Amino acid sequence: PTTETAGSSSSQEGPQAAVTPPESDIPIHAPYLLIGGGTASFYAFRAIKANDPRAKVLVISEENHLPYMRPPLSKALWFQTDPQKVEKLEYHPTENYNVFHASSAYYVDPKKLPHLDKGGVGILHGRKVIYLDAIAKKVHLDDGSEITYDKCLIATGGKPKNLKVVENAGEKIANRTILFRTIDDFQRLYKVSQEAKSVTVVGGGFLGSELAVALGNRGLLNGIIVNQIFPESGVLAKVLPEYLSKWTTRRVEAENVNVIPNQLIETVSYENGQVALGLSSGITLKTDYLVVAVGLEPNTELAKTSGLEIDDIHGGYRVNAELEARSNVWVAGDASCFYDIQLGRRRVEHFNHARNSGQLAGENMTGAAKPYTYQSSFWSDLGPKVAFEAIGMVDSSLPTVAVFAKNSYDTSAVQADEGLKSDAVKVPDSSEATMTNPDEYGKGVVFYMKDKTVVGLLLWNLPYRLNTARQILKDGAENEDLYEVAKLFRMHQT
Ligand code: FAD
Ligand code: NAD
Repeated sequence: PTTETAGSSSSQEGPQAAVTPPESDIPIHAPYLLIGGGTASFYAFRAIKANDPRAKVLVISEENHLPYMRPPLSKALWFQTDPQKVEKLEYHPTENYNVFHASSAYYVDPKKLPHLDKGGVGILHGRKVIYLDAIAKKVHLDDGSEITYDKCLIATGGKPKNLKVVENAGEKIANRTILFRTIDDFQRLYKVSQEAKSVTVVGGGFLGSELAVALGNRGLLNGIIVNQIFPESGVLAKVLPEYLSKWTTRRVEAENVNVIPNQLIETVSYENGQVALGLSSGITLKTDYLVVAVGLEPNTELAKTSGLEIDDIHGGYRVNAELEARSNVWVAGDASCFYDIQLGRRRVEHFNHARNSGQLAGENMTGAAKPYTYQSSFWSDLGPKVAFEAIGMVDSSLPTVAVFAKNSYDTSAVQADEGLKSDAVKVPDSSEATMTNPDEYGKGVVFYMKDKTVVGLLLWNLPYRLNTARQILKDGAENEDLYEVAKLFRMHQT
């Protein structure tokens, strides 16, 4: 692929070609053009550079930060005790690891990109692609400029959803509402957590629950009151079986969070400098700030302008098993609705998927033509007693079978089974037992089933066993005695 800049022309061959053309603000052509500067994009350009070392890669990023990892923004950074490290976005307790995927030294000036014989990765910050012409192989940016490409990746991720009732409540409420996705959002909420007396997190999913625990931890230090409101009966209800969701809710409460389940927000108003939330129970809850964490809307605006297909069920751009949407246009990460050869069409909103799909898209942009067969996993932690990893289809609407260690060291007893019953797996104790013995769900494995086949696994406080889970999923584990299968996880070992 060739590169041009504004001011140079491919028709000016001969002696003039040796003259360095004037640098334009941006290249007018990029052999590799990546839309979005998040995790999927980072792993894509790393793969492109690995396969095509002289590649000239131009990234268009709406954000004014270098590509970074989002997971520490709702977890480790909040438990960082050194404020200077927080300022530098260093999340590790002892090492100086920060959230950025690579330091600024890794990147080249995008203006210079066309002139660099060895190529490189240049990022245009603060610009947005608003139109993609897949036939002319060209994008339009929000400042009116146009860039042609040879190969293009869409890695636009998603934006946080808001609630209509909050959106319609006016400017004063908007000023006290945080939708959380970026470094800027983290910095704003961190400041709020130092100044406000109370904050209410709306949403019981990954983000809402992690942030509630993080803020609850701040509350132990400075007294900020933290509420968490959501419509379901327990946290992570879309993922965890009901009994485990309820048990985990107790753990979140133990982290200094006032959890208010089974509630919708019906009204929002501004009263005496506070946000007043009218809940479906009839109660009014007053709070200084709102954090709305009610799911993600994949960024697919380009589909409307550019004739790309959106998946009606899962959202996101529809791509084939090679992650290609159109000729020379690939989509990776949260915005990609891909065909999983094993489990069917899916869209996954997790880091490892962004990493691996980005990497594969990068390889395919350099000609690999490989299918995406990686079975993505994800993780979360909610305070010191709950850490889990999961793989495959982990959806609480599926029947599950679970095997838990009786206590942290003893795997002789099985404590819970939902949906399916197997001779070897005992029917669950009632939820009362769950409440009286907080260690009951200390360690275990939950199998998610479809047509008597394992389609997903959740490893509950069982680190370093993901490869075993991956293998079980790959083998299909159909009609297996899952109590026996659970033994593969050696729950009694750390
Ligand atoms: P993104 O990271 O969203 O990057 C997309 C980028 O594209 C953004 O910078 C966006 O501004 C930009 N963009 C969008 N449209 C345009 C356009 N038209 N032009 C130019 N730029 C554009 N996952 C886990 O598995 N484990 C975790 O513990 C975990 N923790 C998380 C914590 C937080 C706070 C958040 C927000 C997410 C977390 N995730 C976690 C999810 C994970 O971070 C995402 O799945 C991942 O970031 C998706 O990467 P992506 O590159 O697809 O999208
Ligand atoms: P989510 O999809 O995990 O959870 C959405 C939650 O929104 C639901 O569980 C529900 O409680 C709530 N909700 C929906 N409608 C509501 C309503 N009308 N009123 C009140 N609550 C309502 O999304 P999220 O938790 O917002 O996370 C945002 C994104 O960040 C997702 O892509 C998620 O995967 C990602 N994330 C992942 C992790 C992780 O993997 N550990 C951590 C943080 C964020």
